[in-house]
Amino acid sequence: MYNHATKNYQCPICLAVKGIENEHTMIKQDDIFYRDDLVMALINFKFVGNNPGHVIVAPLKHYENLYDLPEKEAMRIMKIAKEVSIALKKSRNCDGVMILQNNEPASEQHAFHYHMHLFSRFENGKLHENISNFRVSEAKERKVFSKAMKEYFKNDKRNMEG
Ligand SMILES: [Zn+2]
Repeated sequence: MYNHATKNYQCPICLAVKGIENEHTMIKQDDIFYRDDLVMALINFKFVGNNPGHVIVAPLKHYENLYDLPEKEAMRIMKIAKEVSIALKKSRNCDGVMILQNNEPASEQHAFHYHMHLFSRFENGKLHENISNFRVSEAKERKVFSKAMKEYFKNDKRNMEG
């Protein structure tokens, strides 16, 4: 519903779900720190201003946006978003957590596969002033964040693979 992806759209999130990784894919398998039968969570390759390593939660199946997202996936995404939020609080000692989810280009949706952003927030962090100031991070920079999240989920005995 209200879809914008072209017919031959190469979905970056679907490539990651399939485990495809090459010099053109922005998402690396090491970025993914949680995966179950419906959803996955990973560290975004875009590092925003002074807030590197924010999290993406996405369904494994391809749905372009919130309008298309089935309730089953939507419920699981919110469950994992809650766990990721607590993980961010504990592992990064942040002052708050912010959820951002864009639908359609007018809302600055760039990847046409539903995804939710979660940012750790800090007092006086001024994230909104910095949010359009991002850079493409290196895989090794993301690995530090991904490892911390993997450890949290493992130590917390959460259900995860790999
Ligand atoms: Zn997709």
